[in-house]
Amino acid sequence: RKGLMWFRADLRTVDNTALSSACSRSDEVHAIFIATPMQWHEHHVAPIQIDFIRRRLVVLSEQLAALGIPLSVIEVADFDAVPDAILSFANEQQIDHVYCNKQYEWNEIQRDHHVGQCLLNNQIKFSAFDDQCVIPPGDVLTQKGDPYKVFTPFRREWIKVYRQKDQAPLPRIEPKQSVSDHSSSVNPVSPLTLEGLLTLTYPTVDSMAWPVDEEAIRQRLLMFCEDKVRDYHEDRDTPSIDGTSRLSPYLATGMLSPRQCIAALQPFFPDGIVEDKQGPFCWLNEIIWREFYRHLMVAFPAISRNQPFQPWSRRLPWLSDEALLAAWQQGRTGFPIVDAAMRQLLHTGWMHNRLRMITASFLTKDLLIHWQVGEQWFSRHLIDGDLASNNGGWQWASSTGTDAQPYFRVFNPTTQGEKVDPKGEFIRTWVHELQDVPDKYIHQPHAWPEAVQGNVLLDYPLPIVDHKQARVRAIDIFKTAKEMH
Ligand code: FAD
Repeated sequence: RKGLMWFRADLRTVDNTALSSACSRSDEVHAIFIATPMQWHEHHVAPIQIDFIRRRLVVLSEQLAALGIPLSVIEVADFDAVPDAILSFANEQQIDHVYCNKQYEWNEIQRDHHVGQCLLNNQIKFSAFDDQCVIPPGDVLTQKGDPYKVFTPFRREWIKVYRQKDQAPLPRIEPKQSVSDHSSSVNPVSPLTLEGLLTLTYPTVDSMAWPVDEEAIRQRLLMFCEDKVRDYHEDRDTPSIDGTSRLSPYLATGMLSPRQCIAALQPFFPDGIVEDKQGPFCWLNEIIWREFYRHLMVAFPAISRNQPFQPWSRRLPWLSDEALLAAWQQGRTGFPIVDAAMRQLLHTGWMHNRLRMITASFLTKDLLIHWQVGEQWFSRHLIDGDLASNNGGWQWASSTGTDAQPYFRVFNPTTQGEKVDPKGEFIRTWVHELQDVPDKYIHQPHAWPEAVQGNVLLDYPLPIVDHKQARVRAIDIFKTAKEMH
């Protein structure tokens, strides 16, 4: 029996349901990754994420080679071309069973449906496993059997299901089946080289700041749990503190599984999960948010088809102003915390969660620019770009989502800056023009030259909107759209 493991957003050998299954059910296993540059382009995948994936494929091929599994990387234009590509690869290699882990986005579901049919028509089996979430979508439901639309009751039920599901308090960081048993019976396999993968026809942005080898990822997780998770509840909202895990790129691409994260929390929950206000639970809560958005995407497929969750929000008269949009994108809004955050995104491909909330609120409420424009910009630049979490975050911030920020709560970018970066340390890291501005004026820098009667020159934009007026305008427009419904 010859199996084919089709890697997509699960680029790891550890705790990989489909890979374990392929290994335990086959005499010989091949692996494949299919690059689809046109599709990536259509999905606005960030070049930095593709570089990150490309580097990881080399590591993955080495790990697989050690298990006797050759990895092939092939390139086709888009998802439409995938069924034929898989079929001809399977025929060439005489594969009789293709294995993969499910992806839950609409286009990915359609692709898998077509692949499944095409393989079946050719007497090749196709198995897709739930692996991306700790609890599979569809398994956390209300008493009536409906999906949850509000996070807190979802979390309560999620914990209940989790407790019932796992008799052992938490899973261990080990492959589910002994993948390594597979290595002895097959010929030596040569891993891929990065040069060989340079040909992927997609622009790339250097992702070297993010290590991709297994040990480095494991260390990042363990160090976070040893050194930082205890203080997570206090540090997580301060962008100048390195207080969050920065594991999102690994979770988004499946280099790390959420089960591995929970397993690393095990020392804090020796008798199972306890809901409290401490750091470890607070961090687990975020992992559950990740699950919530995935479950929602499966229950309401419109989410991954560019639809708002709240139908009334279709009536919102979004504005289109290229100059204001460009100011937001490039970090030239005249609001220091917004500008620092947007520049962090452009320079590193990552942004702190609190700042994602502030910048998303600024775009959708202060500038009244459609959340989809922001969602797309984030996706094009984030190394952790992930449809469910990105869409969830944007619809939360723009008050168009489920369990979203109420529309009348509009972040004040100045007071938010004072709250999350009181001394302006984060701002000064990214907005060099404000380097010399004293702490007292860092959040309203133009007050500084005024205070010293013009004795200093500030090369920094004036605020592009009057926040007070913009707030009133947004509340008014949102209220009208909601009442008209
Ligand atoms: P930690 O605080 O260490 O959290 C651990 C993990 O939990 C994260 O790695 C992530 O996988 C998950 N997580 C944390 N917060 C959230 C959340 N609010 N929603 C869903 N999952 C969460 N996250 C992405 O992974 N990809 C995105 O494209 C993305 N876009 C976002 C857009 C907006 C407008 C907002 C408000 C949030 C977005 N998030 C996204 C969620 C969150 O900002 C990031 O997951 C987090 O900042 C990653 O940093 P970390 O790994 O240090 O997180």
